[in-house]
Amino acid sequence: MSVTHGTELTAGPVPGSVAPEDTEATGRPDADPAAMAAVTRVARQVLPPTGLIDDHIKLRTYECDGLAHYKVTPALVVLPETAEQAAAVVRACSEHGVPFVARGSGTGLSGGALPRADGVLIVTARMRAVREVRREDQRAVVEPGVINLDVTRAATPGGYYYAPDPSSQQICSIGGNLAENSGGAHCLKYGFTTNHVIGAEFVTPQGDIVRLGGLAPDAPGYDLLGAVVGSEGTLGLATAVTVRLVRLPEDVRTLLAGFPSTDDAGAATSAIIGAGIVPAAIEMMDALAIEAAEAATHCGYPEGAGAVLVIELDGPRVEVEHEFVEVERLCRDNGAFAMRVATDPAERALIWKGRKSAFAAVGRISPDYIVQDGVIPRTALPEVLRAIADLSSSSGVRVANVFHAGDGNLHPLVLFDEAIEGAGRAAEEVSGAILDLCISHGGSITGEHGVGIDKAAYMPRMFSDDDLDTMQLVRCAFDPDSIANPGKVFPTPRLCGEVPGRHKGAHPLVEAGLAEAF
Ligand SMILES: Cc1cc2nc3c(=O)[nH]c(=O)nc-3n(C[C@H](O)[C@H](O)[C@H](O)COP(=O)(O)OP(=O)(O)OC[C@H]3O[C@@H](n4cnc5c(N)ncnc54)[C@H](O)[C@@H]3O)c2cc1C
Repeated sequence: MSVTHGTELTAGPVPGSVAPEDTEATGRPDADPAAMAAVTRVARQVLPPTGLIDDHIKLRTYECDGLAHYKVTPALVVLPETAEQAAAVVRACSEHGVPFVARGSGTGLSGGALPRADGVLIVTARMRAVREVRREDQRAVVEPGVINLDVTRAATPGGYYYAPDPSSQQICSIGGNLAENSGGAHCLKYGFTTNHVIGAEFVTPQGDIVRLGGLAPDAPGYDLLGAVVGSEGTLGLATAVTVRLVRLPEDVRTLLAGFPSTDDAGAATSAIIGAGIVPAAIEMMDALAIEAAEAATHCGYPEGAGAVLVIELDGPRVEVEHEFVEVERLCRDNGAFAMRVATDPAERALIWKGRKSAFAAVGRISPDYIVQDGVIPRTALPEVLRAIADLSSSSGVRVANVFHAGDGNLHPLVLFDEAIEGAGRAAEEVSGAILDLCISHGGSITGEHGVGIDKAAYMPRMFSDDDLDTMQLVRCAFDPDSIANPGKVFPTPRLCGEVPGRHKGAHPLVEAGLAEAF
């Protein structure tokens, strides 16, 4: 979960689940200077002079990502321009046992790109070439530092766009999207990043450049690309990504509907999907989130609404027209008392402005807040939202809800005032309890922001020790020396020759001859 203060993501002493001073997770500043010197030497040989930063003050620019209350100054930052340069640095890291962390734009909200004090931060900001846009194959090959929206900008003249649209799409990178399996408002209809990445050029933690997936569909063998998407930089570094492009729709219609309560809005969501209609997006905001958005953007959301839905339909004009009538009817049948239809791009942008600025807007009504991210089956929405409301009233901690209702991806914003003694701790407890609610309703501790360092400690609430060890076997197969983004995703070091967990002897899978311990 990410903690923000006011409208900015800034530092603060709010307790996190893994303390940044936990050197097992973040590294020791004095760790093996000889090894770091050797890696620095190689980096100087292969990179242009401006591609390497080792000045302490400049290094601090990279000390955090979007989860800014965790901060670690890296030992070295490199900015490669080519896959070969990146691979040479990774190879040196491998030879000298130095950890490395990949970083795209640093907008991640789970501390995934938090550097290691004893490691190298590999920043992809100078790998921003769109290598090719192949309209006839409906795909593009881009370097990892390319900004999400720039893929769409490159494809639009040919009538295509890149569908996954995180709210950060103006700044986040495709490499970061791949590593986080990022989602967005339009992923309900079009799927998450994993459905749009069809190939990757990839630097293994040993420094080899390999190709995963590719142009032909359904390659035989294990789905290694599938393993890499969403692996949060723990399996290696993507140096090029082949993405699927989607045809621009003939028509787009956006509807804003006001409901008395989140229950009614949730029922309308289920009714729409139940009727066989899959809108491009269905987003929900509750009364507190509406209040914040209204104060910040004057988006004209209906007064007195307990919840609003932003529903967008796209596709062939005839289909959109037909479905739009049906969606309006279903909203009305489920209690919508106000509806506004965008008739031009400006009106559409205003409706979306309220939703897309909601995280920052909450700074208008609370000095500090935690952005939580969890997911539940869509049909559990009314029950879980009621349970969150109960948690809020019993604890006295206010919670605003803004979320992708269509796919059950919640973003509760837990409000508090750091100046009030104990308020941060109370907010943290409510935030953790919301994750428990997600798990107990068949959901997950993260919908799209990833585990990173922030939620590593929550993994055992969702997975058994055996589950976690099995995942570690996959990680060890790629990275037996645990140098790729160590300390992230998993709660404690296990297997790979690290401190053993509960299993004192061999892992059950190893004992059964089903897996090999490295
Ligand atoms: C205002 C705001 C709104 C957001 N909205 C959304 C949203 O709607 N949906 C959503 O899913 N997320 C959202 N996010 C979170 C974030 O933008 C995404 O997780 C995004 O994909 C991160 O991209 P990045 O380039 O900033 O990656 P970074 O933060 O730099 O890195 C993220 C992770 O990816 C790894 N990584 C980066 N590049 C590579 C690479 N080339 N190879 C291997 N690993 C790599 C890093 O090690 C790290 O673990 C939002 C963030 C903000 C600040």
